[in-house]
Amino acid sequence: MIRFENVSVTYDGADEPAVRAVDFEVPEGELALLVGPSGVGKSTVLGAVSGLVPHFTGGTLHGRVTVAGRDTRTHKPRELADVVGTVGQDPLSHFVTDTVEDELAYGMESLGLAPDVMRRRVEETLDLLGLADLRDRPVSALSGGQRQRVAIGSVLTPHPRVLVLDEPTSALDPAAAEEVLAVLQRLVHDLGTTVLMAEHRLERVVQYADRVVLLPGPGERPLLGAPAEVMAV
Ligand code: ADP
Ligand code: ADP
Repeated sequence: MIRFENVSVTYDGADEPAVRAVDFEVPEGELALLVGPSGVGKSTVLGAVSGLVPHFTGGTLHGRVTVAGRDTRTHKPRELADVVGTVGQDPLSHFVTDTVEDELAYGMESLGLAPDVMRRRVEETLDLLGLADLRDRPVSALSGGQRQRVAIGSVLTPHPRVLVLDEPTSALDPAAAEEVLAVLQRLVHDLGTTVLMAEHRLERVVQYADRVVLLPGPGERPLLGAPAEVMAV
């Protein structure tokens, strides 16, 4: 579902590539972790999946990234929106509306869906994420874990086949983090969504993963022996 073939990204003005010769694959319906120390290129890899890199960041991408068979270099992020949902590190920067319900509806607005389909998808997503009681709440009045779930919900209503998340639990306490991870696991198991999630704390999330993609730092050896399949890239 996600395939990287010998992918290197060099940002404009940088001397060194941000990621170099990355090769991996995530099959449909798996939850994969993208692991590695800060600065190793996790956000860059996620951006290459959603098409933000290099379309919006500048720079050059060598090699090939395909998501559901679409080459992300030849499709603009907008042309990938029905395939890939992206949740960044800071949910607040995601939000464009006032209430939870409006936020979930917003992502579908450019898809040309009938109003009753949009309403049904909002209901279905509120239930899936355990947000039904919060539907009229201003997004600014939510806890960190609730915000993260709304951010996930807002990219789920278009029914993307792939979801990429950048350290979605990094600002959460353990209980809220577990709620978010349980939601992701439910998406994978119940709906067959493919999830790629960046995380620098492997131990917190590895039990939820089907696969681990490790981006080792310069000169480092690949980490081995994790409970999931570790692919050194
Ligand atoms: P991680 O997510 O693992 O912390 P990043 O992908 O954010 O790593 O960063 C990898 C490298 O690319 C870093 O050296 C970072 O400074 C650089 N970088 C990231 N984004 C940009 C950008 N938009 N422009 C220039 N350099 C960037
Ligand atoms: P519509 O496409 O008209 O919105 P439904 O809301 O009934 O139809 O959803 C169609 C199917 O999509 C249902 O079987 C439902 O389980 C499934 N579905 C629900 N949420 C998602 C999701 N986030 N991603 C993919 N499929 C989903």
